[in-house]
Amino acid sequence: MLSRNLSISGLVTVNFDIARRRMVQDQIIARGVTTPRLIEVFKKVPRHLFVQEAMAAQAYCDGPLPIGEKQTISQPYIVALMTDLLDLTGSEHVLEIGTGSGYQTAILANLARRVWTVERIRSLAMQARKVLDSLHLLNINIKVGDGTLGWPDAGLFDAILVTAGAPAVPETLAAQLVPGGRLIIPVGDESSQTLVRITRGDDGIFQTETGIGCRFVPLIGQQGWQ
Ligand code: SAM
Repeated sequence: MLSRNLSISGLVTVNFDIARRRMVQDQIIARGVTTPRLIEVFKKVPRHLFVQEAMAAQAYCDGPLPIGEKQTISQPYIVALMTDLLDLTGSEHVLEIGTGSGYQTAILANLARRVWTVERIRSLAMQARKVLDSLHLLNINIKVGDGTLGWPDAGLFDAILVTAGAPAVPETLAAQLVPGGRLIIPVGDESSQTLVRITRGDDGIFQTETGIGCRFVPLIGQQGWQ
């Protein structure tokens, strides 16, 4: 399963290690995401294991890919940018909404103390669990449910990352941030969004910053799209 090469119809051989290094250099570093800890993790996590076998040869291409159930694994650069905006140092408790393939979860698990991740589609959550277990990532809790409600039983989070597009920032999620905590979420309509970072001040006041435009599948739930 962890093979380094893929032969397609006996004609082309993709070396995943080389493809991954190129992805990091050309798609992530070249676009300005250069945080050293983050770059090391992107060089290490085998993205090709998080896509369907038939798509493995495209796993390091510069775009999102289908993962089944009409959902996608996000473009590598967007995963890197959103992760960078969380400013993780290694001690954090992180909540991810939208486990999908589990690729973003694996990146977060390598950069934070513990990750709680919520996915609304059971089959995706189960497949993600399988791949994450095969990589021996032991600091991850996965739950099937409506992530717009967060994970109230887990306490407050240092960082929250939403990987689906929301009509507005769910208040329940912002309320689950510690003082100083960061929430990254794409906000907009169903076809295009803007990346938003909310920071909860020590005084409890939320500060909002907006970033680049992006396009995510919809966040469906009580505090998302119906
Ligand atoms: N982070 C993922 C990855 O690395 O593969 C990509 C996630 S995909 C762009 C968005 C995911 O959010 C989909 O799997 C979708 O089912 C999920 N989703 C949408 N609404 C949700 C909700 N309310 N709670 C949990 N997951 C949700």
